[in-house]
Amino acid sequence: MLCYECSITGCRRDAIGVCSHCSVALCAQHAHLVAEEITMRIPLVKSVVLPRRARLLFCQVCKAALEQECAVEQDEGQTLSSREAEETEPAAVS
Ligand SMILES: [Zn+2]
Ligand SMILES: [Zn+2]
Repeated sequence: MLCYECSITGCRRDAIGVCSHCSVALCAQHAHLVAEEITMRIPLVKSVVLPRRARLLFCQVCKAALEQECAVEQDEGQTLSSREAEETEPAAVS
């Protein structure tokens, strides 16, 4: 399989893996390895982060998009306004 990102720019480079999110094939230059925290849920207590981390491979597009989601979650100041925006938007699902 050939790298999708390289094929856009007209190059042909062998892929070393696929993006965990969108499944495009990626070469070593375009693949981004991320350490994923593994959590274990204990009923009535909380979720506990386990010591070992799993491996996730992302393309640059999905990595940026997923990091963007995290940034919004951490910014509690915008929670209310983003909820209001969701309510006014036409329902895309259902
Ligand atoms: Zn590539
Ligand atoms: Zn992707």
